[in-house]
Amino acid sequence: MVWDSVVRAVFPGRFQPIHLGHLKVIEWVMTKVDELIIAIGTAQESHTVVNPFTAGERVLMIREALKEYSIDLTRVYIIPVPDILMNSVWPQYLQMYVPKFRYGVARNPLVLRLFKDSGYDVLIPPPFERGRYSSTTIRKLMLLGDESWKELVPSSVARVIEEIRGVERLREVTGMDK
Ligand code: NAP
Repeated sequence: MVWDSVVRAVFPGRFQPIHLGHLKVIEWVMTKVDELIIAIGTAQESHTVVNPFTAGERVLMIREALKEYSIDLTRVYIIPVPDILMNSVWPQYLQMYVPKFRYGVARNPLVLRLFKDSGYDVLIPPPFERGRYSSTTIRKLMLLGDESWKELVPSSVARVIEEIRGVERLREVTGMDK
């Protein structure tokens, strides 16, 4: 096997938490490349309103979601990457953490611009029910005590969040349990 000939894409996201839209993106990319690198961004942050889950918890959620949807784990890397203060060199910095890749996968305009400016090709997935599948919406529903957030994530992810008492944590860090 010549490892350099393997076509890889990197899909960065905060995955706070991973939802069914992300999963559709993952399935979509995997029809186009040999291997997919899921880069868990903002890996340094947890226990905040916008980033409640640790990088390790997000690794577990993503892995469980991929297993639930029978996605071939031998073709996937899940790698946490902390943020840096210098956007312009972020793609080069990302290279240090992940295997060599050809494509950056994103809809996020900043992320697309940074990949393009660094000479990478990009893959832009279609919006998979973007209004419905959103981590921001999921966190809002959790805070409201609305159980319908569970319909927006794989059931394995809902189970991990229950196990780690993720909703209670989110309410605590938001100050809503006072
Ligand atoms: P995210 O909200 O988890 O989303 C990840 C990607 O999935 C985005 O491109 C998003 O596009 C797409 N997506 C989400 N739901 C979708 C759906 N239903 N259908 C189709 N696409 C969907 O994460 P993000 O905030 O974009 O994550 C980027 C990560 O890279 C962050 O951790 C950021 O800090 C990191 N980063 C770091 C630096 C630095 O360190 N200087 C620089 C750049 C990026 P949209 O949300 O745009 O639709």
